[in-house]
Amino acid sequence: MSKVGFFRSIHFKLTLIYVLLIIVAMQIIGVYFVKQLEQSLINSYDNSLNQRIYSLSYYLEQDSSKSKAELKEDAQKILNDFNNKDESNEISEVSYIDESREVIASVNNGNQEIAGKKITDQIISRIFAVGKDYEKKFYDPESNKRVRISATAVKNENQETVGVIYVVSSMESVFNQMRTINTILATGTLIALGTTALLGIFIFRTITHPISDMRKQAIELAKGNFSRKVRKYGHDEIGQLATTFNHLTRELEEAQLMTEGERKKLSSVIAYMTDGVIATNQNGAIILLNSPALELLNVSRETALEMPITSLLGLEDTHTFEDLVENQDSMLLEIEREDQLSVLRVNFSVIQKEHGKIDGLIAVIYDVTEQEKIDAERREFVANVSHELRTPLTTMRSYLEALAEGAIGDKELAPRFLSVTQNETERMIRLVNDLLQLSKFDSKDYQFNREWTNFIRFISLVIDRFEMTKEQHVEFIRNLPQREVYVEIDQDKITQVLDNIISNALKYSPEGGHITFTVDLDEEKGLVLFSVKDEGIGIPKKDMDKIFERFYRVDKARTRKLGGTGLGLAIAKEMVQAHGGDIWADSIEGKGTTVTFTLPYNEEQEDDWDEA
Ligand code: ATP
Ligand code: MG
Repeated sequence: MSKVGFFRSIHFKLTLIYVLLIIVAMQIIGVYFVKQLEQSLINSYDNSLNQRIYSLSYYLEQDSSKSKAELKEDAQKILNDFNNKDESNEISEVSYIDESREVIASVNNGNQEIAGKKITDQIISRIFAVGKDYEKKFYDPESNKRVRISATAVKNENQETVGVIYVVSSMESVFNQMRTINTILATGTLIALGTTALLGIFIFRTITHPISDMRKQAIELAKGNFSRKVRKYGHDEIGQLATTFNHLTRELEEAQLMTEGERKKLSSVIAYMTDGVIATNQNGAIILLNSPALELLNVSRETALEMPITSLLGLEDTHTFEDLVENQDSMLLEIEREDQLSVLRVNFSVIQKEHGKIDGLIAVIYDVTEQEKIDAERREFVANVSHELRTPLTTMRSYLEALAEGAIGDKELAPRFLSVTQNETERMIRLVNDLLQLSKFDSKDYQFNREWTNFIRFISLVIDRFEMTKEQHVEFIRNLPQREVYVEIDQDKITQVLDNIISNALKYSPEGGHITFTVDLDEEKGLVLFSVKDEGIGIPKKDMDKIFERFYRVDKARTRKLGGTGLGLAIAKEMVQAHGGDIWADSIEGKGTTVTFTLPYNEEQEDDWDEA
């Protein structure tokens, strides 16, 4: 805000009004006073002169009975006397005129003759006729003076006009007095004006100072400085205004602090959210993003800010900003991050002002990669289970139909058909058992019956069993150390693992092949390694990790013929891991496969259990 110049300030205006009012008042007083004074001065001038002329007329009247010569002499004496008594030198001419209109005596101080003799004559004739005095005041430009002319009748006892006293007098003294008084008045006015103007400046400061103080405060407020307070100068309206102003400042400060606090809360919520948040302005340019959003979208803040949201989300080919505002649906995005494809769900919501104008868009981003993967796995699992169940069921139905249609009477076919259905049923039971077991692992609803076991002896027994029952011509080679290694295992469960690995090796071993069983110790990690090596078809590299997934089989058609469902290794993995070990496979395609698993071991059996 600009500074108010002195000549535009209230202070100046108030002082100016005040001074003008005083000038007007002084003028009115001055004019009235001067007029009255002038009148009164002129009156007293007239009165004193008339008084003197009256006494003059008295003396002259006394002499009227005398002879003309005597009269002339006496009148001249009286006039001289009258003139001499005029101390202020006002009288410039005095004459006495008798009935015959003759000037009997005259004193003339000024060297000018009486102006307008003729008029005088007329005046004098009128006085003799009517008996009324004459008086005139005028400005005489020749002598540059104000002049009074008077003609006064001199009357005898019978009230008859016997003569006229004609007086010309100067009124300069009156007007000189007036001039002096005017000067005094003017100086007085000037002094009074100066003093009151100065006083006014100081007095009005008490009014304007709080106002300009509040003005400064308002400017500071606009800048966001709430620390300033207006001083309270009194209890009048301005004082109350100052109090209200200070109150307003406090309220504003509180409101400001509250909004600031809310803003901070909001920004820390946004910053520490695990979901990504993006906000745009009304044009769709990004104005805010939190770090999870940067991480999820794999961009830097510098590049993302100001960027249109559609191009940041890679939607510029399919969507406009208006589409996003209108639809406000959530959508799935695929973003490549660190060589991995992640799936993001984005929810949009529009920021609207009260009157419905769109102010921007907020996008919340979640990483749903994991969930999408789980969903996909679940869908696949259900599909797999239904498929695995449908195959044996359809086989059984066709065999049972054939039996119902008459094959039951055939002594040769009937037992064969029945045995097929029996096999399929067993296969289904096995499958359902496997699934049950896996679901128990998933829900952590299992219990191990662990006991300390001599691992080498335990394995030897399992291998012996396979050696006895195997139908193929496959040679078993045992690389087992001659020492005691103890593991704490649930024997049933580990037997199941061994069964699956060894039966897999047998399944894929060619006639006359070898299967090598090896036990190794990793003393550093305290692990015992058991591996089964065959010389079968091997596993392609790309499938190496997947064979431990549920229902995964490298060659579905062939393995199904061999009776596999693809659950064996998945179960084995769960079990080994539940024992604190791990399982993996190495293979060279066409040459053979080695499946290895580890278990934590102890050199000695725990003493208490030794004899038990
Ligand atoms: P199940 O064990 O449930 O009867 P399966 O043997 O087919 O069925 P897994 O034991 O889980 O299932 O094995 C998964 C897949 O891994 C097999 O289908 C097979 O393709 C491959 N596989 C496993 N062991 C070997 C091996 N020793 N040689 C070659 N391929 C193997
Ligand atoms: Mg198997």
